[in-house]
Amino acid sequence: MKSKRYDGYRSFQYLQEGVDYKPFRLCKEIGRVPTYRVPVSEQEEERVNRILDQELIISLHDHAFVVPEDVTEIWEYRRAGREWTGYEGLAASRLDVVFDNFMDGTAMITSKAGWKWNDVLHDLGMRFSDIAHQEMVFIAGNVDDFYRAKETGRIALVPALEASTMIENELDRIDILYGFGVRMMGIAYSEANSLGCGLKEKRDGGLTDFGRKAVQRMNRIGMAIDVSHSGDQTSLDTIEVSEKPIFITHVGARALWDSPRMKPDDVIRECARKGGVIGIEAAPHTTLTKNHPQHSIESYMEHFEYIANLIGIDHVAFGPDTLFGDHVGLHRVFAGALSIKSAQGSSAFQEVEYVKGIENPAEAFPNIVRWLVAHGYSDHDIGKVVSGNIIRVLEEVWNVRRVVAAQSLTTEKQPARMAEEGAGAQARGAGRPRLAAADTTQ
Ligand SMILES: [Zn+2]
Repeated sequence: MKSKRYDGYRSFQYLQEGVDYKPFRLCKEIGRVPTYRVPVSEQEEERVNRILDQELIISLHDHAFVVPEDVTEIWEYRRAGREWTGYEGLAASRLDVVFDNFMDGTAMITSKAGWKWNDVLHDLGMRFSDIAHQEMVFIAGNVDDFYRAKETGRIALVPALEASTMIENELDRIDILYGFGVRMMGIAYSEANSLGCGLKEKRDGGLTDFGRKAVQRMNRIGMAIDVSHSGDQTSLDTIEVSEKPIFITHVGARALWDSPRMKPDDVIRECARKGGVIGIEAAPHTTLTKNHPQHSIESYMEHFEYIANLIGIDHVAFGPDTLFGDHVGLHRVFAGALSIKSAQGSSAFQEVEYVKGIENPAEAFPNIVRWLVAHGYSDHDIGKVVSGNIIRVLEEVWNVRRVVAAQSLTTEKQPARMAEEGAGAQARGAGRPRLAAADTTQ
């Protein structure tokens, strides 16, 4: 097993605890709850290890932070504006790349409602400062960084935000967030915003005119788009309007579990038809099924198989949405702020204390790969779902500088025609082989 370059660093240890900041008693990153291993034979475990060592392992959606042991302290923890990253747990996770969603809608440093522009920037800057003081995790801005992480025993962290609420009515804030390192943004969280509707809204009016412009801006900048928490119509509109494939980074199938947090077949199909990828969600009490109403890796993987059968193995990945700490307790504390109840819908389920087998970032991927090996998936298919599919979409979405370079070369020859074609030409250019001359830009 290849190990990560972890030297025991703890968040903010470059400062003086108790003098520069107030410490919190945090959860154990490993062993907080009994570890569960998906049962495989010794031979299969060898294959699992080989796959984890050889393939790039990408989590499309997680929160790699550590929660206070007493979850009711989360408000004070949030107001202090310092989120502790779970380096020890990440070192054991076998992850090479993690899309981290920072404080999500709970960056409540100056407000109780979250999503404030200043608070989101505070959150980004504070995490980046901490990350800059250690060696193992680094902020990734392109796909080459992913391979660099694998080769050098480090972890590439991709900053993502689950909604665009903080841009208010300012398109330029998308540029600014990109400049600060953000590489993926959701459209709306539970509540509607200036772009479109979240999944909580009873009447989903779809993308607003401003939302269309924001999607176009994200396409041009090279910001990946996510509609995990958006309403169904807003999701369909985003898929249609976007010139690039989009992600639904952490969801399940509503056909298996009837809640607004799951996506109906038509949204899943449309996302795949445009080339997009669906990541499977494992936050407590989300991806349940009638066969497995007690949330565990079994219900999780039932959603994976259903969606893979519906749209093909080329369009599925994993976005477990885990964290280090009591996720169920956190949901209770944040029930109002994050609209947990309305997202869960009305179906009855058996509450669990944690999701067995996929409780935190450290145990998620080893167990996902064990499950896939135990269920007869080929190395080739496993490679696709742990990273290949995500890379394919990111190559298209993120590499805009190369596309613009290609376009400007053509523009020199045919200025009038290119001006007419505008953004459409840019989108079509994305699928073409990239120019070697422009390769130094990424
Ligand atoms: Zn989420």
